[in-house]
Amino acid sequence: MPPTSAKSSASEHPLAATLRAEVRSFKPYVAGRSIEEIKAAHGLSTVVKLASNENPLGTSPLVQKTLKDHAGFAFRYPRTGNPRLREAIAAYTGAAPEMLCVGNGSDELIDLLIRVRCRPQAKDGSGDVVLAFKPSFSMYRLQAKLCGCRFEQVELNPDFSQPLDKLAERARELRPALVFLTTPDNPSGYAPPLAELRAFVRSLPETTLLVLDEAYMDFAVPPCGPGLGEYSLLPELVADPETYANVVVLRTFSKLHGLAGLRLGYSVSHPWLADYLWRVRPPFSVNLLAEEAGIAALGDETFRLATLETVAEGRAQLTAGLEALCCTVKPSLANFLLFHLPQGARQTGTEIFELLLTKGVIVRPLASYGLPEALRVSIGTRRENETFLKAMAMLLKEDGRGA
Ligand SMILES: *Cc1c(COP(=O)(O)O)cnc(C)c1O
Repeated sequence: MPPTSAKSSASEHPLAATLRAEVRSFKPYVAGRSIEEIKAAHGLSTVVKLASNENPLGTSPLVQKTLKDHAGFAFRYPRTGNPRLREAIAAYTGAAPEMLCVGNGSDELIDLLIRVRCRPQAKDGSGDVVLAFKPSFSMYRLQAKLCGCRFEQVELNPDFSQPLDKLAERARELRPALVFLTTPDNPSGYAPPLAELRAFVRSLPETTLLVLDEAYMDFAVPPCGPGLGEYSLLPELVADPETYANVVVLRTFSKLHGLAGLRLGYSVSHPWLADYLWRVRPPFSVNLLAEEAGIAALGDETFRLATLETVAEGRAQLTAGLEALCCTVKPSLANFLLFHLPQGARQTGTEIFELLLTKGVIVRPLASYGLPEALRVSIGTRRENETFLKAMAMLLKEDGRGA
């Protein structure tokens, strides 16, 4: 069992009262349930985890070999500035190396961007605002709060598409230091068309920095190939950084490249910003093995194409399977699907999540996104998807309303 968390403030050490007020409002991070934990709790021998949008094919064999080959260098500090990795990402994205910063997951870059750009709220009411859609990735709020900033949100449309016009309007009112936009979005898988995105960038205040979190952009092209330009602003930013001097794109190695556990992400921006990110980034935050693994992953096109194929096929398989069970599935350009239970189902998404655990399937409940009636499932291998669909079929039959 994990340690029990969340001690009430009554039993807190008196010195806790000396911490910053922003910090005192933080709740312990509730991580997804682990495979080992669910096995033990329900006496299961196999558990399928489709909760964190990890790579369905695991770690690339080439990356595994690289990690073994470099294990003996773990005693060394990595080179500051991660020059080889930076060159490899430059070759992969077409961006000049000066436009890149790499971080300990894109999470670190989210944190750094807020801290370099945002002034904390002060007693006189001054201080910066961070703006995003609601719901959105929890990290934006957490890091904005830790920095002492006001975090403001604009509701998504009921169908989970993004009202960029409303977001722009709010941005012109609030003049936020940062706007976070996830595309494709998490948890819906929606991505705005590029023309809309271009208009949105033009309508923002010049001093607002737009962060395009493209953690899932790799999956936005069926089934694997060029044409990223349809949804991603990255090619235009790379070609014309001056026009997009207030835009930064975040990418990660955690999803397509299968390196979630090693923590590696990067930003692409005009060099003025990349330069400052490097100045504030802790010099060794990207560790030596992550750096080697990242270089190896970029060189493993076979693994990437196999992943994209698995995700494209699995997305179709899961969509068809869930729809056959009368669930409503949102069209997704990412490696996960958001779905609602059949009309009239007696159980909530959160309850189905708990019941799926007893059958050895871990998905993502969305109550923390304000969507207790919905669930998110990551796309797995064909076998994993089948296991999930079978468990869903059984539960909905027991519920008496599903197919
Ligand atoms: C998974 C994910 C990331 C990636 O985070 P890392 O720190 O690179 O693992 C970033 N943004 C969103 C919206 C995500 O879902």
